[in-house]
Amino acid sequence: MVAVSPTRIRTREPDQASAEAVDLARDAVIAVVGAGQAGGHLGVQAEGERIVTHLFECTDPAYAGWRWAVTVVRAPRAKAVTVSETVLLPGPGALLAPDWVPWHDRLRPGDLGVGDLLPAPPDDERLVPLAVLEGDDAVTDWFGGDGDEGPAEPSELPAPGRSRVLSSIGRESASDRWYASEHGPRTPLAHAAPAHCISCGFFVPLSGELGRLFGACANAYAPDDGRVVSADHGCGAHSESLAGAAAARAVAPVIDEFGYDLVDLPGVSVEETVFEPLSRGAD
Ligand code: SF4
Repeated sequence: MVAVSPTRIRTREPDQASAEAVDLARDAVIAVVGAGQAGGHLGVQAEGERIVTHLFECTDPAYAGWRWAVTVVRAPRAKAVTVSETVLLPGPGALLAPDWVPWHDRLRPGDLGVGDLLPAPPDDERLVPLAVLEGDDAVTDWFGGDGDEGPAEPSELPAPGRSRVLSSIGRESASDRWYASEHGPRTPLAHAAPAHCISCGFFVPLSGELGRLFGACANAYAPDDGRVVSADHGCGAHSESLAGAAAARAVAPVIDEFGYDLVDLPGVSVEETVFEPLSRGAD
């Protein structure tokens, strides 16, 4: 059996009887959507042997530029033309919906709402199975550090209940994100801070490799309380900032021994007092 592609049976000249079946095609549109939405006949195009599509303007204002396409056919050696299908198709310049974007590509940090579920797919590159024992991923998760500490003690092994842990890609992605956020070093808050978080008593380093650069802020009065901050972040609530700030504010007292202020005394008003030059009293 030889497969015949549609392009091979397509003819340039439409079948005459099918091309003349304009009223039949229009009636098909009216039968579907009513008389009010079928506009003028825009033309015919041959689809194949004795297969022709008639195009009609769509007058629905919601579908500007769209066209009703009615395909009619005529069987071999038959005189009658029949309707095959009726569809609404976009014409040149038709108003179209934007391309479909899968939800997992559209999702942005912060989109997740109360009650929403967002399971990580099995091939999520940010996660690796807990059983991985080789490479960068395993070193961090089994030893809780950079791998230089030697074999893990039983108490250091990951807690049961997690089948996957952060991969090196997942850690790198989180590091980049956190470091560039408002909890990193390049913020006005950090620039104005008296010292970095690394020297702050409220800085609680994370465990594992991420703890080299990040920790949680545990200062209720800090803007970043309860958030992951970078070690070179900082704020005015730094645990050692009080002494530094007080010292910075201290200035030498101003003692003016030459000037004086005029003040009212009981029974003596400055306004009603007549002052004389000191030179006259000296005579
Ligand atoms: S109080 Fe300020 S300096 Fe200290 S850890 Fe928190 S953000 Fe860093």
